[in-house]
Amino acid sequence: MSLFIKNIFIIQKNQMSVVTRFAPSPTGYLHIGSLRTVLYNYLYAKQKGGKFLLRVEDTDRTRLVDGSVENMISVLSKVGLTPDEGPNNHGDVWPYYQSERLDIYKKYVDQLIENDKAYYCFCSSQRLDELRAEQKELGLATKYDKHCRYLSNEEIKEKLDSGCSYTVRLKVPEGKKIVLQDTVKGKIEVDSKDIDEQVLLKSDGFPTYHLANIVDDHLMGVTHVIRWDEWTPSAPKHVLLYESLGWTPPVFSHIPLLLATGWKKLSKRTGDVSAEIFLEKGYMVDALINYIALLGWNPKTTEEFFTMDELIERFNLDHVNKSGAIFDVERLNFFNSHYLKSLDIEVVYDKLLKYLEEYNSEFFDTLQKFPKEYNIKVLEELKSRINKFDEYQEVTSFFYNDAKIAEDDLFINPKMKIESMDDVKKSLELTKVILESDNNLDNIWDIKNIFVEKIKEAEMKNGQVLWPARVALSWEKFSPGTLELIYILWKEESLKRINKVLETI
Ligand code: GLU
Repeated sequence: MSLFIKNIFIIQKNQMSVVTRFAPSPTGYLHIGSLRTVLYNYLYAKQKGGKFLLRVEDTDRTRLVDGSVENMISVLSKVGLTPDEGPNNHGDVWPYYQSERLDIYKKYVDQLIENDKAYYCFCSSQRLDELRAEQKELGLATKYDKHCRYLSNEEIKEKLDSGCSYTVRLKVPEGKKIVLQDTVKGKIEVDSKDIDEQVLLKSDGFPTYHLANIVDDHLMGVTHVIRWDEWTPSAPKHVLLYESLGWTPPVFSHIPLLLATGWKKLSKRTGDVSAEIFLEKGYMVDALINYIALLGWNPKTTEEFFTMDELIERFNLDHVNKSGAIFDVERLNFFNSHYLKSLDIEVVYDKLLKYLEEYNSEFFDTLQKFPKEYNIKVLEELKSRINKFDEYQEVTSFFYNDAKIAEDDLFINPKMKIESMDDVKKSLELTKVILESDNNLDNIWDIKNIFVEKIKEAEMKNGQVLWPARVALSWEKFSPGTLELIYILWKEESLKRINKVLETI
């Protein structure tokens, strides 16, 4: 069966079920805004029991970036948005690279010419440049002036026979209103006189984005085109192309742009824009997906935390906002902290290990050298001090490094009645006695009770004892409290660290 016939067959088969797609041009990494586009396409398809496809729009050969498709596929798989069909998992509608579908486009171009819906254009690029410059100078919209639209059949034949280079342009009907209903933007109406006679087939035999996009969406059975706002001006042109080919257009949803705080364009200048960077920084997928879903979609409830299953159930294309949504890293941090707090500690631990294994193998190896119970205790205590996993190594340094001795300055703390190193010594000796006794130090409450009792017996103040111990145990200005440190480090290691300091005084 030829590719062409096969695709015709598939159109009929797909007509009933929802099919969405992500159709990136492989010109770089996956943008965070594109991740949201993918998410909305994915959610909608899954909710309707349909399919979500990945198609690579690689017809502009000058802008291709090596490794771009692989990067996109890998990021999508990491965030759990794997397409049902695409370059890595073929289904009925292969191939998924437009550069491998050139024959298909050519057939439809021939069909359009035959039906008088498109025409050959022999204008040189020099003529077109001059035309554009002229129009610009006069303050007019830059459009093709239909110079070749009215060539006679003989003229066309003669030019083709003599090997003249040509493009093929869409023939826009005169005096027609192009109307489409966008689920986000509402009714869009454009007069055909305002539509440029777009090139469909370039002189190198490659289709333009417009032609390839429409042919593929149709042949791949795409029922819903969910894409960012930038493509809204092209939509009427696309509807016209569907009509010219005798096809029914899909449902269009042009979703609002993602903006940086201050309503600026979200670009490298305003912060991170590559979706993968957020994974590298250690945001959890659950948080990233949850936060992104809400950028532009209104769940019509005060709830804001949704699992993927809940998002699939509740997502509604009719509740996508018209205006741009602001991508705010502080909000993302808030979502990530929520997931760090609320997910089961074992789940967070697994996610942390997976993250470290991929992005910080050295620290991953370090963690492997410690018992899991110890690592979990540390995580339980420290997770509230981080926004994301890339901060974890630093805040846990005193749990995974050999003990160091802090400067005297840090031990001395007049507010806590620690005026000299002799005071430090006296305090640490008390801590040592408590740790060496048979007291039950199994949980943080027992530790607290015992310390309070013993400090009282010694007629000392809590801070006076706990401050030097904290500095001895963690040698940092900021760390968890002394009793938490003891609980995590346990007697033996705590004593080792206290003794090490005592030896130097
Ligand atoms: N290749 C286009 C892009 O990367 C796809 C637009 C569309 O979804 O129709 O923006």
